[in-house]
Amino acid sequence: PKSRLKHSAEGDADYSEDVVQKVANHYSARTNQSLAERESSPIIHLKKLNNWIKSVLIQLYTRRGDAVLDLACGKGGDLIKWDKAKVGYYVGVDIAEGSIEDCRTRYNGDANHHQNRKKFSFPARLICGDCYEIRLDKVLADDAPFDVCSCQFALHYSWSTEKRARRALANVSALLRPGGTFIGTMPDANVIIRKLRASDGLSFGNSVYWIRFDEEYTEKSFSSSSPFGIKYQFHLEDAVDCPEWIVPVDVFKALADEYDLELVFAKNAHDFVHEYLKKPEYVDLMRRLGALGDDRDKSTLSPDEWEVAYLYLAFALRKRGQPERG
Ligand code: SAM
Repeated sequence: PKSRLKHSAEGDADYSEDVVQKVANHYSARTNQSLAERESSPIIHLKKLNNWIKSVLIQLYTRRGDAVLDLACGKGGDLIKWDKAKVGYYVGVDIAEGSIEDCRTRYNGDANHHQNRKKFSFPARLICGDCYEIRLDKVLADDAPFDVCSCQFALHYSWSTEKRARRALANVSALLRPGGTFIGTMPDANVIIRKLRASDGLSFGNSVYWIRFDEEYTEKSFSSSSPFGIKYQFHLEDAVDCPEWIVPVDVFKALADEYDLELVFAKNAHDFVHEYLKKPEYVDLMRRLGALGDDRDKSTLSPDEWEVAYLYLAFALRKRGQPERG
């Protein structure tokens, strides 16, 4: 019922758990694609571009031997990136049991997929759990502190209630060493709200995605309502069909600061791409990943995929304090 939806932000634990389960089920049900299926995806170049953005972030902020905590690690799509960065230890946590199983298979070397038969040089621990609910500092007391924490395309799932958003940041803060870095990607609320305002109603999109807000989110409610629990439905062809939550960038910055996480930058994906494509090593990486097409494959990112990239931002935060010497 409508009244139930209206008060979803706070104090309605049942409702919130329902939606959390919906997100978990959605990702759990998504099975691994074959290489051929992946290559024929309508958003293949967007996926490659997102991989490039994550690779650049990882290379910028990781040093050889680092201990890494990957929140909402999914199927372990970033394992190879961490391997290239020569990390020393990896802990991955995800709420979707199916994804953690896929991640484990990938880490152990999937005998059925020769391209996945890879042995990683770092030890890893994989855990199924809700990163925005459980006290990860207790679960991971023996593994901490971490040098880098990463949360890729997933932090917005914590913004359903203030309690969960706080738990997410408290977990990161408690587990990072002083001077450690928290990197990630998430929807850019500024872009989404701007697009909503430019639309005639409560939804907008293009050939590969759509976003639809609930009726309660009129222009007025953004300024007056709580900055938590602002829900919309996100559909991305061949990838996502899930409830998600707006993360107002200024509230994110202020809340993170309360947990001793200082903003280094939060940058829209378009600006991030333009900035790092000025550097030859990342141009080369883009070519190798084939995000903008390569010599063999003349196809490239479509304008509609590029518009989806614009819906996201990349961020880095630094845990306050002096790193220990040695
Ligand atoms: N980080 C991975 C990547 O970049 O490939 C996966 C990104 S996928 C878009 C979002 C992930 O967030 C899913 O694997 C989902 O199961 C996970 N997730 C959503 N809510 C979560 C929660 N409360 N705790 C842990 N993981 C969560």
